[in-house]
Amino acid sequence: GVYSKQNINKFTKHLSHKFMSYMYNTDYRVNYVTDGIKYIFGILPKEMIGSCFYEKVHWQQSELKKIRTLEEKLQKDTKRSKQIDTSFIDTNGNIKHIRMTKYAIVIENKITGYEGIIEDITKEKEHELEEKRLLKELSCLNELTNTINMFHNIDELLKNSTRVISNGCCFPKSTMTKIIFDSKEYVDIFVEDALCENTSDIVIDSKKRGYVTTYTKCLSDICIKNTYTNKIKFLDIATEQLGVALNNLILKQHLEDMANHDSLTRLYNRNVIKKEIKNELTKAKRHNRNLSVILIDVDHFKSINDTFGHQTGDTVLVELSKLFSKAIRSSDYAIRYGGEEFALVLPEASINTALEISLRIKEKVKNNQFNIDKNKINMTVSIGISSFPEHSDNLEELFKMADEALYEAKDSGRDAVYIYS
Ligand code: GH3
Ligand code: MG
Ligand code: MG
Repeated sequence: GVYSKQNINKFTKHLSHKFMSYMYNTDYRVNYVTDGIKYIFGILPKEMIGSCFYEKVHWQQSELKKIRTLEEKLQKDTKRSKQIDTSFIDTNGNIKHIRMTKYAIVIENKITGYEGIIEDITKEKEHELEEKRLLKELSCLNELTNTINMFHNIDELLKNSTRVISNGCCFPKSTMTKIIFDSKEYVDIFVEDALCENTSDIVIDSKKRGYVTTYTKCLSDICIKNTYTNKIKFLDIATEQLGVALNNLILKQHLEDMANHDSLTRLYNRNVIKKEIKNELTKAKRHNRNLSVILIDVDHFKSINDTFGHQTGDTVLVELSKLFSKAIRSSDYAIRYGGEEFALVLPEASINTALEISLRIKEKVKNNQFNIDKNKINMTVSIGISSFPEHSDNLEELFKMADEALYEAKDSGRDAVYIYS
């Protein structure tokens, strides 16, 4: 039955591994201790007799202070027993948690020594910490899910995520989170002498684009074991979530890009005029700066198509686009305005600057031989220029004026640059 001798033996053996009692003198030297000390502290009873716990056990400074305070309280109030939970580092370097109950032995109103019981509560404490950790991680993942889709650019998303992930994995001690994505680095909280390091890869379209690393300050082997077995899972989940959010952002940016770009030449398309170019004109007005519009049309492009075929004509347009892009600054806009018509919008460029650039482009095209599909093709372009503030402060009008100037260039016999007048 339940109360068999075997069962009782097992139970008392279990107790003897988890509990010990001891007595010590007023000079803190132990004069009695039970066998449990072997299992809890790894010390033989005979080694302990005559010694003091302060010397024999590796206490952390903060815990030692707690124990000394307990002694002082016992001396002041001898009527009641006192109890604290504390910890020490065992001979294997692991943290062990114990519950200490002590009371003073009083004979004729004088303290003659102390008695104590120690219970090994390492398992319970570890479960408690584990529970706290899981709760923390869960709330972190929750926060990550709730915030991750709020961001419209990758920088902000990653900055926020380092903070959230750092908060989530702060067990057993504070941690640092580092995210590397597309060679850019994001760091939250710096911890010196961090020992434990976990990394999860950020994978997008089955390609590694970066990684998330957490650095944790570990106190013992147990901590390291715990962080390695459990934290990796947390970090993997967090990183996967992050990957999905990043993927969405990249996709969104790509779609926006496609809506603003011409698929053949990769230049901007007319869609940028309504928003981006309009903004540039507003900025130019606000800061009293120039803005010039250059319209370019290929001369006799029809005959290129007729002679070499439409396909080759397309390639000519791609090569021309490269030539135009090279001629302007990165803050300028090269737009495929129509089939073989191009617009360059130059914020901050005066009429003179626009004229210089246009003449340079005209000469470059004229002097260039396009080698496409074994054909040697020569061509010229005609160019019209309009400029803010000289000609108009209205965008539509500026384009119309540049078009009129272009028409004049064609009319003059082509291969020419005209400024609206
Ligand atoms: P010009 O401008 O000097 O008056 O003569 P043009 O032959 O270039 O005349 P226009 O600008 O009016 O004609 C444009 C021609 O360009 C018509 C069309 O066949 C061709 N074209 C327009 N878009 C494309 C394109 O995307 N690819 C190719 N291959 N040809 C195009
Ligand atoms: Mg045309
Ligand atoms: Mg043309």
